Amino acid sequence: MESKVGIVGAGIMGRMLAHELLLKKWTVTLYDRGQTLADTSCSYVAGGMLCPISELVEGSRLVYELGVQSLLRWPDIIASLKEFQEVYFRREGSLLVAHCSDRDEWKRLHDRLSPLVSSHEMKKLTRSQFSEIEPELDCRIMEAILFPNEGQIDNREILTALGSSLQKQGANLRFAEEVVSVKPHQVVTKTTSDTFDWVVDCRGLGARTDLKDLRGVRGEIITVIAPEVRINRPVRVMHPRHPVYVVPRSNSKYLVGATCLETDDQGPITVRSMLELLSASFLVHPGFAEAKIIETNVQCRPALDDNNPQVRYRRGLVHVNGLYRNGFLVAPALADEVTQLLTQSSQPRWDLCREVA
Ligand SMILES: Cc1cc2nc3c(=O)[nH]c(=O)nc-3n(C[C@H](O)[C@H](O)[C@H](O)COP(=O)(O)OP(=O)(O)OC[C@H]3O[C@@H](n4cnc5c(N)ncnc54)[C@H](O)[C@@H]3O)c2cc1C
Repeated sequence: MESKVGIVGAGIMGRMLAHELLLKKWTVTLYDRGQTLADTSCSYVAGGMLCPISELVEGSRLVYELGVQSLLRWPDIIASLKEFQEVYFRREGSLLVAHCSDRDEWKRLHDRLSPLVSSHEMKKLTRSQFSEIEPELDCRIMEAILFPNEGQIDNREILTALGSSLQKQGANLRFAEEVVSVKPHQVVTKTTSDTFDWVVDCRGLGARTDLKDLRGVRGEIITVIAPEVRINRPVRVMHPRHPVYVVPRSNSKYLVGATCLETDDQGPITVRSMLELLSASFLVHPGFAEAKIIETNVQCRPALDDNNPQVRYRRGLVHVNGLYRNGFLVAPALADEVTQLLTQSSQPRWDLCREVA
């Protein structure tokens, strides 16, 4: 039985996998070039939406299934981390809303989704029904669909909680350390060359030297404090260019995101994106006009050709990548799958692991 693993990349994927393998009594070394909170990672800026049905709109049944499975796993994972950090996690559903001008597009989307999900996963609400669950939403909103099983998680809190738990459980955390190359059984840094039974590459976009088909998809996101707004669920608003959503966090904090642009430019947020995101938030709730902008962030999502996550392996080396805009949505189920591959404890559940030469 193999038992010593070197994981490169401490974003959500690397941390979740390290957590799983420690539970299986593996000896874990986790490398990252960033500091303890993985502040150089894509995971650090994510919105934390856990909304699998939105992915069906884009056509990915695999992400939907990984997401549904992960949503079942999150409560136990969070409970097991309670002694390190309270993690903001809600599963009270999410809303897709439309104003009058976007009604036709909203209806098309509704009709496309209806045959793909069961009736308990998606519910068209009347005006009075959605006023009841989110009374403060803009009164000009004409249409709403509730996805009752969806939710949201605070990305930075879960990264912190996993990091503290890994440390307590004896993982060797090698942060602020640049990895120069990953090879079967071997991780090379600027100062060391370390040997393992398995090396797992979770470098996100940092793996581009090895995965030539990996690309970056730019995402811009804004964090505001809005004491005049009380929204409990993620709200996605129909928008001609981006899937714009408002995601509630604790203490009147809201994330407004996210653009989705086919470029790996990581420069600061543009005026256009700022205007589009903030005007969309104002259309969800007029109280956002008085909100204070406390942060803007830009990162590029690691994506492969089909925008699905992939696991590519050969003896001694596994690449887990392509989490695109769904890292938090899929990480628990994906970590289970990779754990099964490494431990050969049971048959893989999804067809996403590919042996490569
Ligand atoms: C604006 C935005 C909003 C998003 N919203 C959501 C959302 O609502 N829900 C959702 O599920 N997902 C969301 N995502 C997507 C999610 O953030 C990504 O899918 C996820 O973060 C990818 O995780 P990862 O662990 O694969 O990569 P990363 O998080 O990028 O982690 C890779 C790590 O590898 C390290 N690394 C790379 N190269 C090296 C090297 N050579 N040496 C040492 N360390 C290295 C990096 O420092 C980094 O910490 C969003 C993304 C963006 C940009």
